[in-house]
Amino acid sequence: MARRTKVYEGKAKILYEGPEPGTYIQYFKDDATAFNAEKRDVIDGKGVLNNRLSEYFMVGLNTIGVPTHFIRRVNMREQLVRVVDMIPLEVVVRNIAAGSISKRLGIEEGTQLPRPIIEFYYKDDALGDPLVSEDHILAFGWATHQDLDDMVGLAARVNDFLSGVMTGVGIKLVDFKIEIGRIYEGDFQRLVVADEISPDSCRLWDAKTGQKLDKDVFRRDLGNLSEAYTEVARRLGVMPGNSTTMPKPKLMN
Ligand code: 5GP
Repeated sequence: MARRTKVYEGKAKILYEGPEPGTYIQYFKDDATAFNAEKRDVIDGKGVLNNRLSEYFMVGLNTIGVPTHFIRRVNMREQLVRVVDMIPLEVVVRNIAAGSISKRLGIEEGTQLPRPIIEFYYKDDALGDPLVSEDHILAFGWATHQDLDDMVGLAARVNDFLSGVMTGVGIKLVDFKIEIGRIYEGDFQRLVVADEISPDSCRLWDAKTGQKLDKDVFRRDLGNLSEAYTEVARRLGVMPGNSTTMPKPKLMN
């Protein structure tokens, strides 16, 4: 067996060199971390679920003309993606107050925000991914004015798409984080949604009961994370039928 070249290993994913130039294989691990990796565990089946869910969202975005790095899923834990030049920012969109905005601004969790709010965080583990302003981003050269406009546009379109999909299955999209990369095409560059979109990077609350179906289940010790993600996958109809590597789905009617 030939050894693959690991390009990058993060907390939840590994990137390997892909089969063709300009591609990576993105491998989803079962590792769960929170609070800048101070809390960590291995959650059986999480990588499989996030691989499927991220595929589902990225394919949906591609279909409505929102460019992403996603090419195709390769197997239960891996997908083929385009190599992009990552912008070192996390773009967070919030519809309902929760998490850090509630703490920072003293807004009760669950408060509907007057409109979607977009925030930027500088990706730096040592600093704990601090919130940054557009002026920081421009002054330090992390992105240009044009990039910022494009990022806000992409984030808004992802929010509209994800909110609609989630509403359709009885889930409120509270907030989410995306990461964006540059793809160069001759004299032009294009921004695309990269990394992953999964319950690891979104807050998802059941519309009726308010039950949390996202990584807060792990962060706040609220129960079984893989059951929560399985529920999201089941509602979206993306549960693989008879896989032996999936955790047993809990079917509820
Ligand atoms: P908050 O700023 O409230 O902690 O997070 C806002 C949203 O962005 C949440 O949906 C959260 O899951 C997501 N998010 C923020 N930072 C990260 C991160 O470093 N990794 C992941 N996976 N999601 C994040």
